[in-house]
Amino acid sequence: MCYAIPGKIVNLNNKIAIVDYFGEKRNVLNEFENIKIGDYVYAQGGIIIDKIPEKDALEILNFWKEYFFELKKIDQKLSQQRVSQNVNTEVLQILQKVNLNQQLGKDELLKLLQISTTDTNSLNLIYTSANNVRQKELDNACCVHGIIEFSNYCKNNCFYCGIRKDRSILRYRMLPNEIIKTAEIAVKKFGFKAIVLQSGEDFWYNDENLVSIVKEIRKFNILIFLSIGVRSLETYQKLYNAGARAVLIRFETSNKNIFAKLRPQTNFQERIELIKSLKKLGYIIATGFLIGLPNETYEDIINNILLTKSFEPDMYSFGPLIPAIGTPLENVKTIDETTVLKIISITRFVDRQSKILITSSFETLSKEAKRNGLLSGGNSLMINVTPKNYAKLYEIYSNRPNIEKTIEENIKNTIELLYSLGRAPTDLGI
Ligand code: SAH
Ligand code: SF4
Repeated sequence: MCYAIPGKIVNLNNKIAIVDYFGEKRNVLNEFENIKIGDYVYAQGGIIIDKIPEKDALEILNFWKEYFFELKKIDQKLSQQRVSQNVNTEVLQILQKVNLNQQLGKDELLKLLQISTTDTNSLNLIYTSANNVRQKELDNACCVHGIIEFSNYCKNNCFYCGIRKDRSILRYRMLPNEIIKTAEIAVKKFGFKAIVLQSGEDFWYNDENLVSIVKEIRKFNILIFLSIGVRSLETYQKLYNAGARAVLIRFETSNKNIFAKLRPQTNFQERIELIKSLKKLGYIIATGFLIGLPNETYEDIINNILLTKSFEPDMYSFGPLIPAIGTPLENVKTIDETTVLKIISITRFVDRQSKILITSSFETLSKEAKRNGLLSGGNSLMINVTPKNYAKLYEIYSNRPNIEKTIEENIKNTIELLYSLGRAPTDLGI
């Protein structure tokens, strides 16, 4: 099983290398001292994470050789714009601008979001146009990261979250060795090249613990994403030095009033400043928002997309709020799949070259949601690799998808889906 295709270094200029995947070239960051032109490497998130012997690389590339072009053909076919009759004229005008690679104004983005669920012709054109932009800009590359949810303790009480401090649930903490072992299995047995380490805001893990976990996992030559909430910049600097290179942290909502209401004892500005500072520290940023918070307007959603863009993230991560039983928002009505698909497409128009994650919360909305998301502009996925006894307890929302399935099954289903859509695990570069 391969989640990444090795590329060959064809150019090196200081820290920027050009990697070739069967003729397709990507710029990547090189932090290795001993890399030279002609070497084979794995890149993730635009960073070279591992060098691999030529013999091994050629073997893997041989496997991919025919498949790679076959997949591209499938993707090209599926991503053609399909204009049918009776498309809303304003939508047609806006999408014309998209085709000409022009930036859309806020009112145009709002207009797309306001298209009615019943106007399926316009909606389908929006989705296929977004998929077309994705294909033209990034080809069929799709990244699949593993995620380890290592603790469900949290000192916070976010109203929407099922592991909030005041919810009475069985709590767990994986010991540092267990986390490292889980990452090792994800890398060596399942082939992941990027792992997200996620938890509630749990200060049982001090800097020393976190640094040693990151250092050990970095030895597996993968990209390490942190998703541990607000910590001091000093901590994040130490973790960067230990080898972490990416942070997944959503600002959750651009609406300060909603933020203040739903995230007691946390601070909007602090979170925003943290995201900016992490970027300055050199971290790859994945950020975004929740969709469907009480009193949220369409304008808030457009502001959320634009705020995400302002951080120049590597990846957009947004998904619907799914009620968690026993939380203050347990009775909130979940946003519908169509609205989320519109948001995915609009995001693709706003930031043509970004990674847009299809989240597992979105997957809960329907059986086809994941597929539909990938066909509407999405191009990234995560697979849960948390040991099953813990994954059950990491209940940020109720009825999480695929929790009962084995990791092997989830991987198999995801890979089958990606192949059916013609997507390949090449890195997207920077
Ligand atoms: N504690 C860290 C990371 C864990 S929570 C943090 O808050 O950043 C990870 C994400 O889960 C949050 O960013 C939030 O957007 C999402 N989340 C929490 N409750 C949710 C719910 N009920 N439905 C969908 N997503 C939820
Ligand atoms: Fe804690 Fe994150 Fe849940 Fe808020 S969203 S309660 S910070 S785990």
